Amino acid sequence: MTTTTPAIAAPAVGQPLAPTTIVRRDLRPDDVLIDVAFAGICHSDIHQVKEDWGTAIFPMVPGHEIAGVVAAVGSGVTKYQVGDRVGVGCMVDSCGECEYCVAGTEQFCVKGNVQTYNGVGFDGENTYGGYSRSIVVKDAFVCRIPEGIGLDVAAPLLCAGITTYSPLRQWNVGPGKKVAVIGFGGLGHMGVKLAAAMGAEVTVLSQSLKKQEDGLKLGAKDYYAISDEATFDTLRGRFDVILNTVSAKLPVDAYLSLLRVGGAMVNVGAPGEPLEYNVFSLLGGNRKLAGSMIGGIAETQEMLDFCAEHGIGAEIETITADQVNTAYERVENSDVRYRFVIDASTIGA
Ligand code: NAP
Ligand code: ZN
Repeated sequence: MTTTTPAIAAPAVGQPLAPTTIVRRDLRPDDVLIDVAFAGICHSDIHQVKEDWGTAIFPMVPGHEIAGVVAAVGSGVTKYQVGDRVGVGCMVDSCGECEYCVAGTEQFCVKGNVQTYNGVGFDGENTYGGYSRSIVVKDAFVCRIPEGIGLDVAAPLLCAGITTYSPLRQWNVGPGKKVAVIGFGGLGHMGVKLAAAMGAEVTVLSQSLKKQEDGLKLGAKDYYAISDEATFDTLRGRFDVILNTVSAKLPVDAYLSLLRVGGAMVNVGAPGEPLEYNVFSLLGGNRKLAGSMIGGIAETQEMLDFCAEHGIGAEIETITADQVNTAYERVENSDVRYRFVIDASTIGA
């Protein structure tokens, strides 16, 4: 049962997205056909459409924050049934056999994980993402969205949620820990909610104080503007963990100075340009500079269950398909509160 599905695609690098149709493969025994309900817009979608990270595959149907309902399952699928509420994030396949896949960190598969879009499957076919009415995904890469989280506010959890949850867990964030989140956008606002729910004391470091009220409402104790030089004096040596969610280059040394001895700055932001730092910023204080990429499938399910338990979803602005290009511009101008989510029923309607 091959499915032709309406989608939104960037026809070539940097081009505006436009309506199109794509074909989804016949269901294999381990496949799930999902009717997409909502697809979040991640800044990574914009980086890839613009080829900020290198050569990409076009036409590109972005979207790796997918929430929807199971419409059909392959003959061998036992975990999901028609009608189940499910989500798909940044990966749709991996080898399943290497040490990293076996350890549940499929994002580091030695054969390379298959990205949800702008990727090539092990069958040689290009992948197309969630800005579409339906998607076919191997069951092992589908997560269950718990009852109690709306599909619209759940969609961004599949990337922004797991990408912030995983490093917070890796760096043992919890009660008694002081955490700073740089950038209060899609990832940043999830980082604030999750770190606060884990019991940490959270500070937002934003370009301005425009969103301060929201930051405090979503769980931050403090909110500072990085445009104010005094911020860096006031906060010197304060944090155990700094989570950098910024999509642009930052002066790393200035942020390292805000860490306590032994503290860690973890980068999840992925600008195309290299970040620079002075090694003495690390030596003076045994500080650590780290990175973190999304999270494995089991950890993504753990994050979704954690969000359900703590009543956490993303703060969203729902848009129709024809508003995607405007939404991209607004994300690039840091004018997002705090995640755009495409109502997939408007794609091809
Ligand atoms: P976003 O919604 O645009 O948020 C980024 C925030 O960074 C902005 O809201 C803004 O916050 C701040 N910012 C932007 N430009 C800045 C500048 N020049 N100087 C200082 N601050 C600036 O983007 P997102 O979707 O959260 O994604 C953020 C980054 O994470 C992107 O690079 C994305 O590709 C990357 N990412 C990485 C992973 C991973 O696995 N590691 C996964 C997903 C996304 P304020 O307005 O508060 O200053
Ligand atoms: Zn993303």
